[in-house]
Amino acid sequence: MAIFEDLTTMGHEQVVFCHDKSTGLKAIIAIHDTTLGPALGGCRMWDYQSDEEALRDVLRLSRGMTYKAAVSGLNLGGGKSVIIGDPRKLKSEALFRTFGRFIDSLGGRYITAEDVNIRVQDIEQVALETSYVSGVTSRAGGSGDPSPVTAYGVYNGIKASVKFKLGRDDLKGVTVAVQGCGAVGSHLVEYLVNEGAKVFVADIDGEKVKSNVKLYGAEAASLQDIHRLQVDVFAPCALGGILNEKTIPEIKAKIVAGAANNQLLDEISHGSMLQERGILYAPDYVINAGGLINVYQELHGYDAAIAKKKAAGIYDTLLAIYQEAVEKGMTTNQASNQIAEKRLQAVAGMKDLRNTLGTQRWAKR
Ligand code: NAD
Repeated sequence: MAIFEDLTTMGHEQVVFCHDKSTGLKAIIAIHDTTLGPALGGCRMWDYQSDEEALRDVLRLSRGMTYKAAVSGLNLGGGKSVIIGDPRKLKSEALFRTFGRFIDSLGGRYITAEDVNIRVQDIEQVALETSYVSGVTSRAGGSGDPSPVTAYGVYNGIKASVKFKLGRDDLKGVTVAVQGCGAVGSHLVEYLVNEGAKVFVADIDGEKVKSNVKLYGAEAASLQDIHRLQVDVFAPCALGGILNEKTIPEIKAKIVAGAANNQLLDEISHGSMLQERGILYAPDYVINAGGLINVYQELHGYDAAIAKKKAAGIYDTLLAIYQEAVEKGMTTNQASNQIAEKRLQAVAGMKDLRNTLGTQRWAKR
């Protein structure tokens, strides 16, 4: 694998390979871009088939974090880490503490948090060795489970999309199909129903469907039909890759706006397919940024009310992206990438005034 070729193409600053024989730790930390601030992104634990697969995953995910933070107006860079191995066999206190020491050695350039297969208690073990962590429990002064704030951001993103596409200020009578009613999906259903939306739900876990029907009066739909219901909004809140050659022609909704990561199987061709069909797509990394916004607040002394208020800002962020997409004749995901890149370039290109003006400018005379 031509590692430096990949780093050059994708624009990464630093990749750290961590190894510890005694605990079996094999991890990769990827710092994509620290123009806006320290690189923050979760740690994923996965039994990768090869080292190359792990490297590709962490490079792709860390780059995505740069864009998410930049477009969300956060002063954070993009980073991510992966621990290679089966979480059921490899997890131990010593492994996570060792990983914490590696993170600490980076002096704050990378801040970690939870991701797939990493729980709050794992992160708390990492935190025994470094302060460069977020996502610790609320009882430890942390932000705790991010999913309610993520759902609140998605709800605001759906409202922005409905305003833009349907010209409506509220969700009364608006129909929404929610695919996946897990941690984020079920909170989202509650917000939608409370505002008078008619909500359909589907989940591979029948118990979750039952509880959403019982608690919020949602209507159960089949797994096969949820994306092709005759509704206003399709909200993918389960899997990535759900927007593809097969599903896009079947979607009858005018808007796709949901929490799931990597919804477009192919970012370019499937983004265009949605646009050609007149379907408004809320770029996933923009509408689901509530989780990152929540964790970001933790770095400044966590306040749940402030985190929620900031997540509501996803409404304005999306409207600006939709407007830009129309003006420039591009897809909404291209427009959001451009907005993120513009902010990064502007900050990267700032003059260093200390050199230009000289420090004596600020000195007392
Ligand atoms: P979760 O695991 O709690 O919920 C996902 C739900 O989807 C589960 O109930 C699962 O049974 C269901 N599901 C899986 N396959 C399905 C299928 N084929 N059809 C229908 N349902 C299916 O996860 P979550 O935390 O709610 O996250 C949902 C999505 O949002 C994920 O893609 C995640 O990466 C993304 N996301 C989550 C957060 C967060 O704060 N939790 C933040 C940003 C993005």
